[in-house]
Amino acid sequence: MTIAIVFTDQALQNMRRSLLNWYQREGRSLPWRNEPDIYRVWISEIMLQQTQVKTVIPYYERWLKKFPTVQALAKADQQSVLKLWEGLGYYARARNLHHAAKQVVSEFNGEFPEDLENILKLKGIGRTTAGGILSSARNLPLSILDGNVKRVLARIMALEKPPAKALRELWEVSDQILDPENPRDFNQAFMDLGATLCTQKNPSCGVCPWQGQCKAFQLRTPTDFPRKAPKKKVPTKKLVAAIAFNGQNEVFIQQRPVTGLLGGLWEFPNTEGNIASLTENLFPQAIYKHSLETVFHAYTHFKIELKPHIYFVSHHQGDRWVKMTNLHQYPFSKAHLKIIKQLSNHQQLSLPLEKNHP
Ligand code: SF4
Repeated sequence: MTIAIVFTDQALQNMRRSLLNWYQREGRSLPWRNEPDIYRVWISEIMLQQTQVKTVIPYYERWLKKFPTVQALAKADQQSVLKLWEGLGYYARARNLHHAAKQVVSEFNGEFPEDLENILKLKGIGRTTAGGILSSARNLPLSILDGNVKRVLARIMALEKPPAKALRELWEVSDQILDPENPRDFNQAFMDLGATLCTQKNPSCGVCPWQGQCKAFQLRTPTDFPRKAPKKKVPTKKLVAAIAFNGQNEVFIQQRPVTGLLGGLWEFPNTEGNIASLTENLFPQAIYKHSLETVFHAYTHFKIELKPHIYFVSHHQGDRWVKMTNLHQYPFSKAHLKIIKQLSNHQQLSLPLEKNHP
């Protein structure tokens, strides 16, 4: 096995010292930093996956008010867990947190595991999250490799491959560089360096504590790294949604299957096919009223264009008809929240009936 880059002991000492000095001066003050409660650190680590700190903070605070302990989370029903996560995206994270909380209660006697082997048994915790949690809450010497750390390392090494193709080398360097005397502050500093100085577009190399060791800086091409994998074309799905109101001014919603994309969230009936067959199936007597603006949303592997059409259904059928004022009790995906926002401007449904089906 080849190691991508080897630092001398002296270089490692310099890097650790300069990074920790910088962190003392410039490190961010974050609610979960220096937090001894491993449950809280776990929540922050999961929320921070794929999501920026400023977005996470209000979610983190609301979460801890509602679920202050792992026991409280284990006891919660999935709907309230998803509701609290609504808008944060990547909903599998919330479902996994809930599942893992139940594991802690049933398999670990309610005590969050504090060793690598057992923490990795919890759903949703991989190697970097485990390292993040145990170094932060318990100061254990475990390295990390989140998105920020990958970017910094790719630049320091002037890595010629996209990070996803070089994970083994990146882990080796992250292990090598970690300060075994002070892993908590070192990992936190490493993430801060990536988030605040070694940013994607305009890295602040002029004030970076690792400038002297950074190959990308020496090449004067920091933003050429990390190398990008060839771009795959992201497909767009064109969807139509039926927003059906009944005579009680209630709207029809349905729940997605509990597993899979947006699992367990609620939505308006929708399809990639045609709106007439969707409504004929669900609401055979529906009367078309009017349409709303198309909603656009991007997921990781595809985009959607979702056109909502409003219908009136005279018969009260099905069991999930909800007053507009009660919709906020259900967790919806972002795209359907955008429909709800438009609906709030059309609540009275006083527009004249259209003659033609869309
Ligand atoms: S010198 Fe620039 S490119 Fe290199 S680690 Fe520092 S900020 Fe990133």
